[in-house]
Amino acid sequence: MPLHETESLVLKSYNLAEADRIVVFFSREQGIVRGVAKGAKRLKSKFGSTLELFSTVNLTYFQKEERELVTIQQVEMVRSCFSSASDPEFLHTFSYIADLLMAFVPPHDPSETLYRMTRACLDAASESTDGLAAIRLYFELWLLRLGGYLPDWSRCDECERQLTNNEPASMRADFHLVCDNCRRTRRLSSVSPLQLEVFHSVQKVSPPKFIELTNTRTETVIELSAILRRIITQVVGRDLMNERTLAVNS
Ligand SMILES: [Zn+2]
Repeated sequence: MPLHETESLVLKSYNLAEADRIVVFFSREQGIVRGVAKGAKRLKSKFGSTLELFSTVNLTYFQKEERELVTIQQVEMVRSCFSSASDPEFLHTFSYIADLLMAFVPPHDPSETLYRMTRACLDAASESTDGLAAIRLYFELWLLRLGGYLPDWSRCDECERQLTNNEPASMRADFHLVCDNCRRTRRLSSVSPLQLEVFHSVQKVSPPKFIELTNTRTETVIELSAILRRIITQVVGRDLMNERTLAVNS
């Protein structure tokens, strides 16, 4: 049985049998990993508090050939999120992020860039929970970009001309932009220069810097997030944020 060791984020856990739990990790080297933590429900479990949601841990596990569910051998805490996770807004944002990762990333398909981006978002949000809307947008946009689903908003999709700053643009149903000269119908929704600026800045700066840049632009952040959610819903085939909100309220 091969033994693996990799840094991971704890995304989700649920009860199995009497004393065991199933834990879903997002790992740096193996992507999404689902494993059984034997005895994790016992009071004096060897796993202690390491399996709390959104902990950053060093995970060691065994994997039998062809079997998706691995056996968790050891989990060491790298960074706890315990204090932030008691904030309902933090919990809501990162549970949604965990759902997105589980929907987008196939099991055992590693993406180190996606891992590092997710970890950077988690670290920034743990420092201060004021920028959660910005972190959510940052994550959504990079998830789409790394998956190859992000539309190119730097140019008009019809005439392929580079859109300049402060130029009004309209969004087609396929989420691509057209300039004012190419727009054939009035029914397209418009994308403001401010929305475009925020869209481009996500792709240039780190999560803490992005929180700082957008702290007076919460409205724009929320508007853009709503557009990206529509793209995500189309890719995944269902609205994960809506499902989460319904689950929280029921
Ligand atoms: Zn054009």
